[in-house]
Amino acid sequence: MPQPLSTDVLILGGGIAGLWLNASLRRQGFATLLVENASLGGGQSVKSQGIIHGGAKYALHGALTGASEAIADMPRRWREALAGNGELDLTGVRLLSDAHYLWSPGTLAGNLTSFFASKAVRGRVDQVKGDALPPALQHPKFKGKVYRLAELVLDVPSLIARLADLAGDGLLAAREVEPLLEEGLLAGLRLDGREVRAQRIVLSAGAGNQALLHALGLQQPAMQRRPLHMVMVKAPSLKPLYAHCLGGGPKPRVTVTSHPAADGQWVWYLGGDLAEADGVARNETEQIAAAEQELRQLLPWIDLSAAQWATLRVDRAEPAQSGLVRPDNAFLSEHGRLLVGWPTKLALAPDFTDRVLAALARDGVAPSSHAPLPALPRPPLAQPAWEELLG
Ligand code: FAD
Repeated sequence: MPQPLSTDVLILGGGIAGLWLNASLRRQGFATLLVENASLGGGQSVKSQGIIHGGAKYALHGALTGASEAIADMPRRWREALAGNGELDLTGVRLLSDAHYLWSPGTLAGNLTSFFASKAVRGRVDQVKGDALPPALQHPKFKGKVYRLAELVLDVPSLIARLADLAGDGLLAAREVEPLLEEGLLAGLRLDGREVRAQRIVLSAGAGNQALLHALGLQQPAMQRRPLHMVMVKAPSLKPLYAHCLGGGPKPRVTVTSHPAADGQWVWYLGGDLAEADGVARNETEQIAAAEQELRQLLPWIDLSAAQWATLRVDRAEPAQSGLVRPDNAFLSEHGRLLVGWPTKLALAPDFTDRVLAALARDGVAPSSHAPLPALPRPPLAQPAWEELLG
């Protein structure tokens, strides 16, 4: 039988939520062990668009009232971490863009007027023109208006790699999870047969939380999955673009982010309304045709003749929505020693960590001493989907 281990906080799931929490706890002197059953970042995190939202998008449909400032503060917290003077040292993580843009392809639509009138947005957006436009929009045929949002876009694979470094020796690849009970109470977990005792256990396994809760005999909190059908296009002609293109509705018609492929070309990753309900109902061929039509209509000067296309189906995992859950907050629920949650956004990983730290502080859980960890099987880093699908 493998050697039993003990730690202060045992974390299940190595996406952004678990990895950020793990690095923060270690920085505060806690002993931690993070368990991953597949690849680090390979759930939603490396498949995300990497936008560090400040909440401006929600003002489009009035969901951000200004009452919760958690998301509004995220770009600052991430910026400080990237500069090496924040709560974590994320120097070396690649910043893809220091701004995300809002792009209205036609005349100023009604929803944009109310958007700019909203309190959440005032002072946070500037119109850009000419040379200041994103490179992909600098063309004589481009009409429309573009606004710069003070939001960042990150290269998520480099972020996950940095957080895995900050985890030091505290990563464990394991698949089988069983409760470890002492006097009827949860004392830890049995991971691939290895006993691990901990003061607290945090489930941050994204879509995997539901199965873990069931394995531990719990039904709550309920989880929901929101399916998306994303599109990737790689072509030598593509230049970087990070923008929400607005349509008539409350959601961006298409959200474009650009990611460097290993062969030096740019991959455009397309989400927004294109990837939601109608997009989910389309098969891969239909979804690619819909995306191509959008790009040809919005950016007719871009040469897509040598483009490679692929789609990616992925679910967002979140707490089942109730009136209490807001899009601009992470979610955490507590069951004795067990904490379970979802950041609901990559950008909100620091908010998720705040909530765990607050629960530990309230319960007087402090760093204690443990035997050093032995060499453990280490989970691999996830590869970006475009390398696998557009290779
Ligand atoms: P995940 O990243 O899913 O990580 C969970 C991890 O747990 C995985 O590595 C998984 O393998 C592991 N796991 C599962 N079960 C077990 C188990 N039993 N034992 C051990 N490990 C387990 N948010 C933004 O802020 N900005 C964006 O631009 C953005 N774009 C997005 C685009 C898409 C297409 C999607 C799907 C989401 C996007 N999001 C974005 C949301 C964001 O990606 C997620 O909210 C965030 O990544 C969730 O992180 P997580 O750590 O909770 O989950």
